[in-house]
Amino acid sequence: MVFLALPEDEAALERIDAALGLLDRLRSPELFRPRLRLSGLEARRLEPGLSPEVAAAVAVEDWALDAQRLAWLNVLDATRAGARAFNHCRVEAVLAGAGTAGGVRYRTSDGRRVEVAARVIVNATGPWVREVAATAGIELRPRLIKHLEVVYDRRVSAFGLAARAVDGRWVALAPRGAISVLGATESETYGPPEALEITTDDLDDLCRALERVLPGAGEARAIRARTAAFPSAAPWGVPARLIAPRLVIRDHGPEGASGLVSVMGGSLPTYRADAEVAADVICARLGVRAPSTTARRPLPGGAGDAPPAEELAREHGLTALAAARLLRRHGCEAPQVLEDARRGRLVCRCEAVTEAELVHATRHEQVRTLGDASRRVGLAMGACAGAACLERAAAVMAQELGWSAAQRFQAWRDHVAAVWRARAPVLGRWGWAQEEVAYGARRGWPGGLRP
Ligand SMILES: Cc1cc2nc3c(=O)[nH]c(=O)nc-3n(C[C@H](O)[C@H](O)[C@H](O)COP(=O)(O)OP(=O)(O)OC[C@H]3O[C@@H](n4cnc5c(N)ncnc54)[C@H](O)[C@@H]3O)c2cc1C
Repeated sequence: MVFLALPEDEAALERIDAALGLLDRLRSPELFRPRLRLSGLEARRLEPGLSPEVAAAVAVEDWALDAQRLAWLNVLDATRAGARAFNHCRVEAVLAGAGTAGGVRYRTSDGRRVEVAARVIVNATGPWVREVAATAGIELRPRLIKHLEVVYDRRVSAFGLAARAVDGRWVALAPRGAISVLGATESETYGPPEALEITTDDLDDLCRALERVLPGAGEARAIRARTAAFPSAAPWGVPARLIAPRLVIRDHGPEGASGLVSVMGGSLPTYRADAEVAADVICARLGVRAPSTTARRPLPGGAGDAPPAEELAREHGLTALAAARLLRRHGCEAPQVLEDARRGRLVCRCEAVTEAELVHATRHEQVRTLGDASRRVGLAMGACAGAACLERAAAVMAQELGWSAAQRFQAWRDHVAAVWRARAPVLGRWGWAQEEVAYGARRGWPGGLRP
């Protein structure tokens, strides 16, 4: 990530440089290279599209990953160790009484209500942590901090870039595969987490910050925007833009719900460490004293050497991109996906997802909707935003899941309706043209959409 400063940002860059200097001292020099100060000229040599006004920069080693895939790999690892995981099941209430929380009632995707007893219940529902705790009579009052991301249809820059917005926030652009994600912490939010709004001003704030340092960025087409919130225990008076995710664990025993533990606000770089702290609290309640081994055990796909991408591509008749993407998602387990004869047939060209991988995800990765397939294997996450692949993907999944023609069409409509909230705020001229062609070809707007 390269932090960029115009002359008026140089004091802010000095503060970032000081903070990164501290980080250099904490991070292992074997794993991370130290930060690097750059002049404007040196920064432009790295990224020629930068504005001539960029006067100074600090480059720091930073990593990006597919957070949704990582979340799934953790679930998969847990199920292989004996856990049971239920997708599309919503906890409606924690069953509590007489000072104890003894289980939960949840609703399955087909509408059934199920009650399960548990000795410990972990409420790790992110921005919904407050609502779930309230069903057990527990009042939690985290601040909810809104984060906004805009996804572009291409790699806008060769490196991750950070630029200052008009209010002083740092806005970060991260290239991820064939797309780029521009994001920043936005503001406090008070509404229901599932109904957060993206305003034109929020989007303009981000885009202007980027275009100030990278004037050509406006030529890229935004394909979607996403807003979501994370809970924070930061005190009153701290501006939302300065709040970073930080773990808080609350054992609700002293508040009259023994057995209920809320875990909120963890962050991605520290998620393993955060999980360890949470597991220690739970094990203490259960009286488990066995030492944990998970910190040293690789996640699924990481336990052996993966074959080189070129070899995989040659051997199975894949494109080089499809082989590389498959390895990124499945590591050394990629050959198992390729046992299916449909390995050579691409269903999503943008993200190079083959029919074989989609079938594998449906059979082994709890994929039941097109949205699940997006989260697990990146279906429809690229530049075409699903215009070219959703129908075929629905047909492949229909075969696996026994959907009728009507169910297949409904799955497509449900997905288009679900992603519409992310598409609508960023559609410009070419985006609208693409939408019209896609919908026109499929008999009009799906029910319920409001263009
Ligand atoms: C847009 C955005 C970008 C971010 N970028 C970064 C980043 O780059 N780096 C970083 O470190 N952090 C980032 N964060 C913060 C980070 O994502 C969160 O801190 C982290 O996801 C918290 O993990 P969690 O498991 O506690 O909650 P979440 O990831 O929010 O997970 C909560 C889960 O609970 C489920 N759930 C909710 N209610 C119920 C219910 N009633 N029944 C069953 N399940 C339920 C939800 O569906 C969800 O799957 C970002 C946050 C946002 C919103």
